Amino acid sequence: MSNDPTICPICDNVLKYRDSLLRHMKLEGQNRKNYMIRRLQCTHCGSLHRELPDCFVPYKHYGAEIISGAVDGIVTSTDADSEDYPCEITINRWKHWLAFNTNRINGYLRSIGFQVLGFSEELLKSTTSLLDELRSSNPEWLETILRFIYNSGGFLGVV
Ligand SMILES: [Zn+2]
Repeated sequence: MSNDPTICPICDNVLKYRDSLLRHMKLEGQNRKNYMIRRLQCTHCGSLHRELPDCFVPYKHYGAEIISGAVDGIVTSTDADSEDYPCEITINRWKHWLAFNTNRINGYLRSIGFQVLGFSEELLKSTTSLLDELRSSNPEWLETILRFIYNSGGFLGVV
């Protein structure tokens, strides 16, 4: 994501580098991985944003597009024209990962949905799953979720 223009998701102004933090991420089993995360500050509204490191996207070598396609049933393991396509076991792990994180994602979406995603107040007050709402309205739902959650300093669990 480091090649993206660094634009404040709140006010659309330019972000500038502020500092870096050392964090660690739990991987499967007992493994942990240390990484540096860059913090950027908006030159206009002063809000802080963390850059989304590539290693944060679970099973990232497939890319968020394939993961969301697989979870949505658009990409299946029978799409055998590319060896990059995931097998059934992998797809099931992604579904499991998403189910595991659904409550957490909905919590984040509820807190950023109005400001960042343009969800209506009615929708935010309803008991509708905002994740389902986003999945049905935005083909890039997974990228959107990951970016906003990590920018706001949160992150999702790894199953
Ligand atoms: Zn800003």
